[in-house]
Amino acid sequence: MQNGTTRALRCAHCGEVIGVYEPTTVLVAHLARETSLAAEPTLAQQAGTHFHRDCFAAGAAQAVGA
Ligand SMILES: [Zn+2]
Repeated sequence: MQNGTTRALRCAHCGEVIGVYEPTTVLVAHLARETSLAAEPTLAQQAGTHFHRDCFAAGAAQAVGA
């Protein structure tokens, strides 16, 4: 159990909070990969740009040229 270390992840496309169990696309050095906060609790502390998977698919992918 961690206390007080929960950091909300926000989508760089729509600005909304990404839920713990929501599929998340992380863009690091032009490389996109799919994960979630549930799978990687330290995701918010890691480098990279975070998107809802659906937001990334809907438009963010084009914006970054991925
Ligand atoms: Zn989003």
